[in-house]
Parts: sequence; C-alpha cells; structure tokens
Amino acid sequence: MICTCDNCRYTFCSDSLPLACPDCGSENVREATLEEKDWYHDLEQEKMHNPMLLDKIKAS
Ligand SMILES: [Zn+2]
Repeated sequence: MICTCDNCRYTFCSDSLPLACPDCGSENVREATLEEKDWYHDLEQEKMHNPMLLDKIKAS
C-alpha cells in the first residue's frame, strides 16, 4: 500500500500502515489518496528515467 504522512506529506510504499512516519516520526500516517498515489507513481517513473537523463547530460 501507499501511505502518506499528514505531518510532513512524506509518501512512501509499505506492506502495512506503519505506526509512525519513517521520515519525521509523526503518528499522523494514513493511506494515500488516489491523487497522492498518482504523484507517487509519477515520482517512481521519474526516478527510473533520471539515470538516462544524467547520462545524456554527461555525454553532451
Ligand atoms: Zn512525516
């Protein structure tokens, strides 16, 4: 599942809802909304594309 921290807006993937945010330690952690899940998947895709972009920058 995708979880979001209401305190620091950290969005992350976890097997189950954690008791506390792994980033700030807040207990205001909930399941991410559809919008936040989309944002998370966009970010994951960008991470996959970034190494290629870095290579292009290095090559030119
Ligand atoms: Zn947090």
